[in-house]
Amino acid sequence: MASQRQLHVGPVAIGGGAPVAVQTMTKTETANLAATMKQVHEVAAAGADIVRVAVPREQDVEALKTIVAQSPIPIIADIHFNHTLALKSIEAGAHCVRINPGNIGGPDKVAEVVALARERGTPLRVGVNSGSLPKHLRQLEYDNPVEALVTAALETVQLMESLDFQNFKVSMKSTSVPNTIASNRLLSEKIPYPLHLGVTEAGTKWSGSLKSAVGLGTLLADGIGDTIRISLSTFHAEEEVKVAWEILKALKLRQRGPDLIACPTCGRLQFDMDTVVAEVERRLEAYEDPIEVSVLGCAVNGIGEARHADFGITGAKDMGMIYSKGEPLKKVPTEQLVDELFKEIDRYYAAGKTVQRDEAAAAEAREWLAANEDATQMTPERMAALEAAAAANDDAADAVLESMLTPAAAAPLDEAVSPVAGRRFSRN
Ligand code: SF4
Repeated sequence: MASQRQLHVGPVAIGGGAPVAVQTMTKTETANLAATMKQVHEVAAAGADIVRVAVPREQDVEALKTIVAQSPIPIIADIHFNHTLALKSIEAGAHCVRINPGNIGGPDKVAEVVALARERGTPLRVGVNSGSLPKHLRQLEYDNPVEALVTAALETVQLMESLDFQNFKVSMKSTSVPNTIASNRLLSEKIPYPLHLGVTEAGTKWSGSLKSAVGLGTLLADGIGDTIRISLSTFHAEEEVKVAWEILKALKLRQRGPDLIACPTCGRLQFDMDTVVAEVERRLEAYEDPIEVSVLGCAVNGIGEARHADFGITGAKDMGMIYSKGEPLKKVPTEQLVDELFKEIDRYYAAGKTVQRDEAAAAEAREWLAANEDATQMTPERMAALEAAAAANDDAADAVLESMLTPAAAAPLDEAVSPVAGRRFSRN
């Protein structure tokens, strides 16, 4: 269940129906101002709503004041073990402070941090990690790790409430994807506070992204989770941000930048699609609009599968085609496909988001498509033609089906169904 309460980390709303906020953590020594600010700007440019910095030493608190002042996005101070650093971080102006009450030195120290946070209006992130549960829950952790995590989180929530403090969000981190899902499902039913989701120490860019997509994606699809952090073993924090966005975009929870659709390729492929897709993905990073771009390795199914794409390309050995919303725009030599695709995209924006169509070039592309698509494939267009023909005349439907199975015999049938099937069914 979605959280009922909302808090604000700087201007960013968390919980209570606000868009799921993307956050990450810098991987620099925080006191190294130049390196930290460079990474803060990189993650902000990649789409981070919030960024967290580790504050393990006095010099990091000193740097924090400048970081808070210069950062384009809100800063969370990440504190372990030392409540004095938490107090100083609040005084330094951190937009939020993360503490795990279990390791900050006891309830009195937590109360001190909470008192100052209340006074300054600073929200806290409080949480528990599967690796550092309180001693009295160790046996339960062994018997039932999900219950142990939720119990520890609830104890933390009770501690906050006993201090009459509600300006906090909760995190419950586990390296196990099933435990992350089960514990957050359970906790979300028991508390109204916003939830910070993450699979801790998820792994490399490859495995960590997948674990996070499965774990966080499952919860987010249930409406659980208010802010997410993808933990990847990479120095490039912006990679975590990109993965977080892909998860949110895949679930249609938020939109940012273009959406690239690409076929998986198969034995029909006749050009270097790996390179083409990578190049298209790289060049799309320069666009902020949520435009949909499709790359199909061949025209076996026509371009029906990409009919929703704003722009797309499909290729063959020497020649390829650019299309928009399922309609051919022009054919071009394969090695120019990417350049010409982006020319069309730029023309579209220059014309106020209107597709620029040259009818002669489009006709030429249609011809190329008709010659290259596989006439035996059951495309959506052909299925529609089949259904329409069936409704009108059973014999015609049989003929359409036969034409699909034996394309050589298809020519006389096209005319019979072409008014229904339209251009795509015609094989001139
Ligand atoms: S579009 Fe063509 S190359 Fe790509 S997977 Fe489908 S059949 Fe294979």
